[in-house]
Amino acid sequence: MSIHSTNPATDGVLAQFDEHDAATIDRKLSETSKAQREWARTPIAERMDLLRRVAQTLRAQKSDLAPLATLEMGKPLSEAVGEVEKCAWNFDFYADAAPGFLADEVVSSNATDSRIAYDPLGTVLAVMPWNYPYWQVMRAAAPVLAGGNAMVLKHASNVPQCALALEDIFKRAGAPAGLFTTLLVGAGEVAGLIADPRISAVTFTGSTPAGRKIASQAGTALKKQVLELGGSDPFIVLADADIEAAAAVAVKARFQNTGQSCIAAKRFIVEQAAADRFVDAFCEGARKLHVDDPMQEHSTQGSMAKRHLRDELHAQVQASVQQGARLLLGGSPVDRPGAFYQPTVLDHVTPDMVAAQEETFGPAAAILRVSDADEAVRIANATNFGLGAALWTNDLDRARKLSRRIEAGAVFINGLVASDPRLPFGGIKESGYGRELGKLGLHEFTNTKTVWTG
Ligand code: NAP
Repeated sequence: MSIHSTNPATDGVLAQFDEHDAATIDRKLSETSKAQREWARTPIAERMDLLRRVAQTLRAQKSDLAPLATLEMGKPLSEAVGEVEKCAWNFDFYADAAPGFLADEVVSSNATDSRIAYDPLGTVLAVMPWNYPYWQVMRAAAPVLAGGNAMVLKHASNVPQCALALEDIFKRAGAPAGLFTTLLVGAGEVAGLIADPRISAVTFTGSTPAGRKIASQAGTALKKQVLELGGSDPFIVLADADIEAAAAVAVKARFQNTGQSCIAAKRFIVEQAAADRFVDAFCEGARKLHVDDPMQEHSTQGSMAKRHLRDELHAQVQASVQQGARLLLGGSPVDRPGAFYQPTVLDHVTPDMVAAQEETFGPAAAILRVSDADEAVRIANATNFGLGAALWTNDLDRARKLSRRIEAGAVFINGLVASDPRLPFGGIKESGYGRELGKLGLHEFTNTKTVWTG
């Protein structure tokens, strides 16, 4: 079997790789296992030095890494540069913060000394998506490695060059051989990897259906798992909000990364009294997006990552229009080679329509008009997902109260939902479980050990 690297903006084949065979997988897993045992005993200051060198290497390689991501999955080049920089920030963050997060915590009890120690778990299998081909991997890798673990990456099959480039970053940074390794394998190999005794835990970022399968496989093997799955984030705008500011952020929240983000705002739930103003400003912003070859500097919306995903998005838009949504902008593939889709805005969407029920993983916004804040929260929660949510209002007291009623792993008041190394990130309901980033993200892949002295 071979893995193809294809440019979704041109349909041109970039490269082709043979999948790793059983003997290569076996050798790599053994090498990683050996590296992990030594790494776990490496003094923490030395571990943090490696994290810093990885950050430096990412920055030094930025001009090679960024175009590779753009070529393989279609995001605008400027966004790919920002993604590499964010990965470097994450490694620097953990290099500074991890020693504190991993320090023993003394807890008083009837012992002469009782404490919590954070030991490594072993080797973590990372099964990752293509949408942020560096960030998704590196946001998981920094805390995993900081905690004394190793990582085996099975990346999405459409970004093999990014996957190999990440392995190379660790080599260049002087990581022990195998501490971070990339396996070029398809989804069919994942079950065998999860069952392998050299794998201790699994971190998965991707779709909810794949998450269910991986969860059951990891459950059967009784291995710790963190699942970062799909989302249909609400973006609530109450009538007293700064509507122009909300609309400007809303454009970014929906259309950055060509709409292919788990925490993209997908359902814009707007109080009726402000809806016309919001919709006008939002459409004006969306009209200014420059859809073009993502390698061109002026391009602010690139190609979607795969043709079939573009076609699925188009089917969701068409179904919603048939159900009565009003098409204000876009609504069609762009007439050129590649997987381009017009920035699309649907107004008067109702909660039962496809655009509100399903995750729309591309540049199509659904606007739902509501009578008041209570209805906004009710509709925001009327989804199987629970990843992020945005809430716009000038009444901060009310906002904080409402935030506690929103079923999501994060609520951002008057801001863009984004992951931040300092804060935990993750979802509830069908958006998954467990947390990445921050202190909690580091502790997910440690053995939280009670040490009791009589
Ligand atoms: P995907 O189809 O689930 O693929 C993600 C990864 O899982 C890929 O490496 C894929 O390998 C593998 N995979 C797919 N089916 C599998 C199976 N049955 N068993 C084992 N592995 C399997 O997702 P995607 O299309 O790449 O990414 C988009 C989805 O990810 C969206 O739903 C998005 O919301 C979600 N996402 C969530 C977060 C978050 O943090 N919550 C972040 C980003 C994306 P192959 O490529 O070889 O099939």
